[in-house]
Amino acid sequence: MSFDYEIRIAAFDWLKGQVAIHGDVLPRRLLEKGFVHSGQRIPLMSPQGIFRPKRLDYPLTITTAPEGPYDDRVSTDGLLNYRYRGSDPSHRDNVGLRQAMRDKVPLIYLYGVVPGKYMAVWPVYIAADDPGSLTFTVAVDDASMISVERPMDYELAEPRRAYITSQVKVRLHQRGFRERVIDAYRIQCAFCRLRHEELLDAAHIIPDTEPESRPTVNNGIALCKLHHAAFDNFIIGVSPGYIIEVREDVLKEHDGPMLQHGIKELHRQRIILPRREEFMPDKGFLEWRYERFKEVSV
Ligand SMILES: [Zn+2]
Repeated sequence: MSFDYEIRIAAFDWLKGQVAIHGDVLPRRLLEKGFVHSGQRIPLMSPQGIFRPKRLDYPLTITTAPEGPYDDRVSTDGLLNYRYRGSDPSHRDNVGLRQAMRDKVPLIYLYGVVPGKYMAVWPVYIAADDPGSLTFTVAVDDASMISVERPMDYELAEPRRAYITSQVKVRLHQRGFRERVIDAYRIQCAFCRLRHEELLDAAHIIPDTEPESRPTVNNGIALCKLHHAAFDNFIIGVSPGYIIEVREDVLKEHDGPMLQHGIKELHRQRIILPRREEFMPDKGFLEWRYERFKEVSV
């Protein structure tokens, strides 16, 4: 087995351990630092998107930067897209990825969720190369199918890769949505200002089960677990003018301090909003939701 392959498998194992510790969104500094193998430090990231650590034959990681409200990395059907470095197909980084494609070398895809945070996906393969659009196509495979002793049988795995890639795309979308929304609201509940990230969710304004739903920040509101459930269940609504309304029958209820402070006192308060205009809740989406809230509120 080559040194390159040995390092690659060690990197996969290290990532698996890091995800077990930190969850599936990893900080950039951790990936930049990397791990130590046979007394040598192997970083997983550099300022460049396509990264080949010293002494490796092929690139080890491909990184995408977090994008704005619209994310075209994973929104098209089929596999993932990865843009060339620059516009020169013969730049050595692009050539390196083309060689990885030719030799079916497994890589790591680092998906930028918000600045400084990445989801790692592995093993991925470069499935196609389109110099016309300066884009590589990336397929994800099953990490449990690859080990030091057992290199993957690449040719037989194509249907499996298509299936796994589609699942990974859904996961990247969902996790990306969560991180971007919570980040846009400066890590707090838009109703009660609770700042514990573990207790925060990204609520959809138009639920993702609806055809009109969008996985964009302007269709999300960062809410704590309690307020997310209250919002989803139409106990609390938000008017298109960003004012919180508590359902009539709940306002009339008398119960302990949780209902009083946690729910009833929010009535007629204004929600906390993102600072950036493009991340503000879309008024059309809010109206869609508010109409349904009004229906159950009477
Ligand atoms: Zn809250």
